[in-house]
Formats: sequence, structure tokens, C-alpha cells
Amino acid sequence: MEALKQKIIANGRVLPGNVLKVDSFINQQIDVELMTAIGQEFAKRFANQQIDRILTIESSGIAPAIMAAQAMKVPLVFARKRKSLTLSADIYATKLFSYTTQQYTDVMVDKRFIQPGENVLVIDDFLANGQAVEGLIDILEQAQATLAGVGIVIEKSFQPGRQTIEDKGFQVESLVKIASLSDNQVRFAD
Ligand code: 5GP
Repeated sequence: MEALKQKIIANGRVLPGNVLKVDSFINQQIDVELMTAIGQEFAKRFANQQIDRILTIESSGIAPAIMAAQAMKVPLVFARKRKSLTLSADIYATKLFSYTTQQYTDVMVDKRFIQPGENVLVIDDFLANGQAVEGLIDILEQAQATLAGVGIVIEKSFQPGRQTIEDKGFQVESLVKIASLSDNQVRFAD
């Protein structure tokens, strides 16, 4: 997606630890025009599928997911992060390792918001090692819902997330693929 690439070139910053900071247009300040186009692009890429719902994770997945949900005219639910979970029968819960905080986080979705048999599209802002997406897949399995595919705004293709998800047999659509962030330079894969 060319507009997103250009925005990354102009405003993205490479931080130590292979982290791309995009807080001026995706993660804190949001470029709504770009985000609208991102939502429409996801709708186009998954147009061949009957999607019932979109699932993402707070907080940075919500903006792209909400624009995709609007473009696809489907409901959106996001998994909440909790420091500690009081186990409840009314939630689906899983534990995942956060790439950016380097800590384990409990995440949960209220059982009312995913129905068994639904075909659910997972959306997130970044794909690195695949932990966030794997956590969401775990929640969908608990809910006996089907994963329709995974939509990612920025894929770091030099990390193993895509391979992990494809090995499970799922479709991954990334709007931009980054081949390397070494020497503080963003190099695109395509
Ligand atoms: P994964 O779980 O695939 O290892 O990492 C994906 C999650 O970590 C995303 O939800 C995203 O919020 C965060 N993340 C991973 N890499 C980056 C990055 O380079 N920049 C930013 N801003 N977030 C990242």
C-alpha cells in the first residue's frame, strides 16, 4: 500500500530492538484519512470471504480494526489486557508475551461478544513474532469460532510471525512488509 509506505518513510522512526515507531500517524496520533484507506484495503483483500466479525487487541489494533469493520459493515470486538485475571466463566482468556513491553499479559474477551460458528477476521497493527495473533487465535478456538484470516498493517517480515501463522494454515494479508530495520533504515520487502 503505497500511501502507507510513503508515510513510514516520512514519519516512521527506528528504535533499538527492531521496533518501528509510528506514533505520529498510527499508534497515538492517528491519520484518519490514511486509516480509512487502510480499512478499505482490508475490506478489498478479504472481499472473497463471508466475515461475521472482526477481532483485535487493545489498544493499537483498534484504529485499523474499526476502519475495516466500518468498510466491511461487521461488528468489532477487541481483547482487553489485564494485569491479573480473576478467572470467570464468562470470559475467554489467554496469556501472551508482549513484543513492546517484553512482559506476559493476560487478555480477555467477554463470551457474549464472540458466537460459536462465527467466521472472524483478526486485525492488528504489527506482526513481529506472532504472539498477539496466536493469543487471538487461542480465544477464537475457545469460542469455537473460525479464523477467516489475519490482516496486518505493518509486517516485519524478518521476524517469524507470518511463518508461524501460515504454518497453522491461515491466510495473512499485510499492507506493508518490512525486510529490515537494521542501521536505523527501513527497507521494504516489496
Ligand atoms: P508479536 O506479538 O507479533 O510479536 O508483536 C505484535 C504486537 O507487538 C503488536 O500488537 C504491536 O502492538 C507490537 N509491536 C511489535 N513490533 C512492533 C513495532 O516495531 N512497532 C510498534 N509500534 N509495535 C510493535
